[in-house]
Amino acid sequence: MTTIAFLGLGNMGGPMAANLVKAGHTVHGFDPVPEAVKAAQNNGIETFPTAVEAVAVAQVVITMLPNGAIVKQLYDEILPASATGTLFIDSSTISVADAREINSRAGDLGFAQVDAPVSGGVKGATAGTLAFMVGGTEEAFAAARTTLDPMAGKIIHCGDTGAGQAAKVCNNMLLAVQQIAVGEAFVLAEKLGLSDQALYDVVTGATGNCWAIETNCPVPGPQPTSPANNEFKPGFATALMNKDLGLAMDAIADTGSRAPLGTHAAQLYRAFAEQNAGLDFSAIIETLR
Ligand code: NAD
Repeated sequence: MTTIAFLGLGNMGGPMAANLVKAGHTVHGFDPVPEAVKAAQNNGIETFPTAVEAVAVAQVVITMLPNGAIVKQLYDEILPASATGTLFIDSSTISVADAREINSRAGDLGFAQVDAPVSGGVKGATAGTLAFMVGGTEEAFAAARTTLDPMAGKIIHCGDTGAGQAAKVCNNMLLAVQQIAVGEAFVLAEKLGLSDQALYDVVTGATGNCWAIETNCPVPGPQPTSPANNEFKPGFATALMNKDLGLAMDAIADTGSRAPLGTHAAQLYRAFAEQNAGLDFSAIIETLR
């Protein structure tokens, strides 16, 4: 079994690290927040006062952090403190440019590194069913795969460095557009006198079907486990969708892409996040009524 350093034991990292312990790995953790450290200790993670101490004897280092600036700063601290042959996996959602930059910093010191952002939320992190989108060389992907397995439902090698983050940013821009469109359909249906249940039954068996209606239905009733049944408690918080759309807009500017619907969705979520950052992103339907 492997000694894995896990840095960032928050909503996602905490349960992901716990699943590595359950799979029989030794997990050395670090997080600056005492509550996160305590919860991790209760799940069998051995915690350390600094990231540098947590990585000292690890063969694999996983980071699950809020943003690219924090990931880059932490890599600067831990790369020089890591043992030869350590494999680095970053599962945070960050920009493609930042992902390539940390890969190159790791590579300069002789370390293999992959970007491996996830989809599936806290539910998937807890159940060990996350979808991992991995960017890196064939060799680095093969090495990362066995470590990711206990946390994963699906592991996809998307291409070279940064390809995992590229897949994540494209998926979430698509999801944002779909969630708004599903909201528009329910509001129009209500105004036409059609019941929510009838629209749900038709669309989920027809060509308009997608996750945003089938699983994350933005009205209470048709899908009893969706956040709409629970006062829009996330789920996937609007703050995180807004962050991911910011990364998508940066990628659009960098590549000169045209994405009129994605750009409009980003504007709507930016405005919605000002007052509703903590609600599930499907709550945007409330702005359409
Ligand atoms: P979170 O804020 O709950 O956890 C981040 C943790 O990182 C916090 O506990 C924080 O204290 C810790 N941290 C900050 N600086 C640190 C440092 N220098 N060293 C070590 N730890 C540090 O966030 P989260 O929801 O767990 O998300 C983590 C990442 O996963 C983000 O990039 C997010 O976009 C992505 N993500 C989240 C979800 C979700 O549903 N929550 C889904 C997919 C992807």
